[in-house]
Amino acid sequence: MKSIFEKYDLTTEQAGAGAGEAQTGSGDILHSISPIDLQRLGNIRCASTQDYENIVDRAVKTFANWRMVPAPKRGEIVRQIGDALRDHKKPLAEVISLEVGKIRPEAEGEVQEMIDMADFAVGQSRMLYGLTLHSERPDHRMYEQWHPLGPVGVITAFNFPVAVWAWNAFIALVCGDTVIWKPSSKAALTAIATMKIIWPVLRDNGLSDGVLNLVIGDRTTIGGRLVQDTRVPLISATGSVAMGRHVAGAVASRLGRTILELGGNNAVIVAPSADLDLAIRGIVFGAVGTAGQRCTSIRRVIVHKDIYDNFCRSLVHAYQQIQIGHPLDEDVHMGPLIDRQAVAKMQAVLKVLTDQGGRVLYGGEILSDGIFDSGTYVTPCIAEAGPDMEIVREETFAPILYVIKYDDIGQALRFHNSVPQGLSSAIFTRDLQESELFLSQRGSDCGIANVNVGTSGAEIGGAFGGEKDTGGGREAGSDAWKSYMRRQTSTINWSNELPLAQGIEFGSG
Ligand code: NAD
Repeated sequence: MKSIFEKYDLTTEQAGAGAGEAQTGSGDILHSISPIDLQRLGNIRCASTQDYENIVDRAVKTFANWRMVPAPKRGEIVRQIGDALRDHKKPLAEVISLEVGKIRPEAEGEVQEMIDMADFAVGQSRMLYGLTLHSERPDHRMYEQWHPLGPVGVITAFNFPVAVWAWNAFIALVCGDTVIWKPSSKAALTAIATMKIIWPVLRDNGLSDGVLNLVIGDRTTIGGRLVQDTRVPLISATGSVAMGRHVAGAVASRLGRTILELGGNNAVIVAPSADLDLAIRGIVFGAVGTAGQRCTSIRRVIVHKDIYDNFCRSLVHAYQQIQIGHPLDEDVHMGPLIDRQAVAKMQAVLKVLTDQGGRVLYGGEILSDGIFDSGTYVTPCIAEAGPDMEIVREETFAPILYVIKYDDIGQALRFHNSVPQGLSSAIFTRDLQESELFLSQRGSDCGIANVNVGTSGAEIGGAFGGEKDTGGGREAGSDAWKSYMRRQTSTINWSNELPLAQGIEFGSG
């Protein structure tokens, strides 16, 4: 069987701007470098500013037609997109592994998440419900309806190169919006492979170019343009808090809308009654999975003092079993970090940690020899830290897990909520009062709060997102679709009178 590289000709120069059949690119060359061995996977000719203009023009023009396609018919096209992804699950996952270093099961999980999202969106296409309301005026009727919004700009991070796009794009499609995708430059080839799988589905349905669009380019030139583009009413941006602050300001200044999915600093509380085996397994997956490069990665474990020593011993033992290596090799649990800069950042943070009084309990070394000569592989790190250390308040996008000791549940919650970010959280406990407290309004302040489950690996059916510096956006399931539409409130008078609201008498005497 042909590899996806051969099938879609990914080894030749790729056009970084595309609207469907029409693919161009006249900007600078971007090299796609694999973090596995720092070898070049491909070359992409980025979108120039003129390419960008052409793509957005097309997305705007196509929106005028796409919004008129009945929503369930739009859903049927998303169903076909889901099928195309099913057919390409393994080969697309391989591109993800090669370009961002995810192990095979996680990369396949990411494509599965796209497929699940397509299935969800198909159902959603028949459930874009509005309310009917009782009017205060006789023989009047009120209702709310939801209309397509316009072209939606989707900016994605390297670590979930396609799933997050699918959360946005498939819901936007059934809502009647066109989509302009600016992927991370560190995952540009994955974006191109994805579009090459999906564009033919649109073509086979007789759709003109411009429904799903791609613009690859520099964050300032292309990203900056997209953010400031008044033709794009909604920007959904996933990435660091610094990026979110910039995007939020730029879009707000033109009174556009944003959905922000930014950094996390996720913690797990391990209570004395916890099933320790369950907790350790959940924490290892949450902290080491995707080499600690998930927005929902566990970064802090807050452990009760009575079980602290035993917990740390068990955790170190579990970390000693982690196999590090080529992400496509079987039995490997952890691949490389995205690049050498990420490794350097991790080392710098560990130095600050020890300067601030923290202590490494396990790992944190850079590996060398053989495949490890790329300088992108590290051992995952467990470090003892104080809850008030400045470094603990930051999200370091690497496999560093801070272990913090607590005395009582009130203190654990204070430690838990004391960071600027508010994405995902969990408690391991068998105590009903503790778990209910954790889930109550004086418990976790995060957008996601779990009991006896880690912080990562969310299902698509729920609304995904976080509070505080995480940006407040919600994507994927539940009623997240509402952000991709505009709400219209309508009042219909079927009487022969013109009564005014609030009983106002105007000009009657
Ligand atoms: P990043 O902020 O460096 O880049 C993310 C995206 O934003 C990229 O496409 C980048 O080109 C673009 N970008 C950056 N600055 C921009 C600007 N000024 N204008 C327009 N676009 C701009 O993040 P990253 O290193 O790719 O990803 C890691 C970060 O993303 C982590 O902080 C992680 O927690 C976060 N993340 C959050 C979620 C979530 O759902 N909350 C999901 C995945 C990743």
